[in-house]
Amino acid sequence: MKIAQNAVVTLNYTLSDAQNNLIEESREPMVYLHGGYNNTLPKIEEALEGQQAGYKVTIQVEPEDAFGEYDPELVKIEDRKLLPTPLELGMQFEGSPEADDEQQESLIFTVTEIADDKVVLDGNHPLAGIALRFSLDVVEVRAASDEEVAHGHVHGAHGHHHGHDDDEEGDDGEFRSIPVH
Ligand SMILES: [Zn+2]
Repeated sequence: MKIAQNAVVTLNYTLSDAQNNLIEESREPMVYLHGGYNNTLPKIEEALEGQQAGYKVTIQVEPEDAFGEYDPELVKIEDRKLLPTPLELGMQFEGSPEADDEQQESLIFTVTEIADDKVVLDGNHPLAGIALRFSLDVVEVRAASDEEVAHGHVHGAHGHHHGHDDDEEGDDGEFRSIPVH
């Protein structure tokens, strides 16, 4: 079966930067629903469209097609006392914008530096500004069930689907909310 709209695609991948430094290797195959459901990057779907199991390809994806350009404005310095304790580098928080910036979406901030009484919070995605190289290896292609198509995601053994109550709300609640100025 070929990869087309509403195919469930199982693949192994390695993610490197443009200099071939390994960033991430799939420990388990990734499974996604093909056809613009935002289950994976559009450039990956584009590269796999019409292909089948056994197909291997390496693609390079520029920041604007992946996690965006690095935005220095998203780096904030906060008083340490506004943040929870204990605090460690790499911890992530959801930043709730101030009342006067209602239009701004809340962002995930990563703690990148801790000084005595100040903390640097970076609201950029950890892969922002990096050209990414994906090596993709298609393991399996099957047709999605009607239910999967209706939900816009994969169910079953390798699908990360656990109950539907949270589906509409996205990932809210996974991070503690903090004020970011
Ligand atoms: Zn579902």
